[in-house]
Amino acid sequence: MKRTAIYPGTFDPITLGHVDVVHRGLKLFDRVVIGVAANPNKQPMFDLDTRLAMVRETFTGKARIEVVSFSGLLVELAHDQHANAILRGLRAASDFEYEFQMATMNRRLDERIETVFVMAREDYTFVSSRFIREISGMGGDVSELVPPAVLPHLMP
Ligand code: ADP
Repeated sequence: MKRTAIYPGTFDPITLGHVDVVHRGLKLFDRVVIGVAANPNKQPMFDLDTRLAMVRETFTGKARIEVVSFSGLLVELAHDQHANAILRGLRAASDFEYEFQMATMNRRLDERIETVFVMAREDYTFVSSRFIREISGMGGDVSELVPPAVLPHLMP
């Protein structure tokens, strides 16, 4: 049986922290499906098509990685993709509260799907999409914190 995990997120934009989480996921699962959430209520800086394109370009040619968008329930996406796990990343204690609530809610919605947390490499623990948006918006260099596919979209 193939083990598939869904890695959901806003990816606004994708960072090397996210990429690291995906690679860790591939050690545990045969297939990782990256679910780019439409998330209109979060008012993302990049529209869905751009966020998808940046994620797709980052993982082109990677056989065990798939990239899809979704707007409904995460557990529905998991069903559609025949996934038995949700992959999430943890940086610091500050991530825990929200992640705990989401994992508990998803478990209530479908007890068969397990949420699995991985920790990114220490040098990425401070990297967040918000940080990337803010720093690059002020002209700072974030080229060592995001995959190359993101850079053209950050240029003024
Ligand atoms: P969301 O809007 O769902 O939080 P994000 O794109 O911000 O989506 O994050 C998706 C997941 O990746 C979350 O579980 C988040 O904690 C994790 N993540 C983001 N950046 C990092 C990082 N630098 N190290 C580890 N996990 C991370």
